[in-house]
Amino acid sequence: MPARDKDKRRALTEEELNEIKNRLLLRKEELWKEIMEDIEEGAGEEHQNLVQLVRDHGDDALEELRESTLFSLIELKHQELQSIEQALNRIEKGAYGRCQSCGGWIQPARLQVMPHVVRCRNCQEKLEKTSSI
Ligand SMILES: [Zn+2]
Repeated sequence: MPARDKDKRRALTEEELNEIKNRLLLRKEELWKEIMEDIEEGAGEEHQNLVQLVRDHGDDALEELRESTLFSLIELKHQELQSIEQALNRIEKGAYGRCQSCGGWIQPARLQVMPHVVRCRNCQEKLEKTSSI
């Protein structure tokens, strides 16, 4: 396939979409495990209640952690987890693969590298230019 074509904007095929969905689900599981480990390792005696909270309530409890020092351990992973959740949501709603800024299709090649991106390459570049000034 010529590089030009690979970079073309188009809707994902069902097969591509399924593959991406599976990757997102796997990554979510992996991240979740890492987050639990980080919390358990980082939590001293005084935080055991938080560990239990996260075990019992999962995602919702992570929000509660925001106020605690433990949160800094998992902040980046939590962000990634949230963007994965959002991508999965968009898949469910059939909105996955559309650019949030211009509404056009995001290049499939781009989605395969970064499945949770929300903007096409052009819009992302524009955004980066304006925010770096
Ligand atoms: Zn765009």
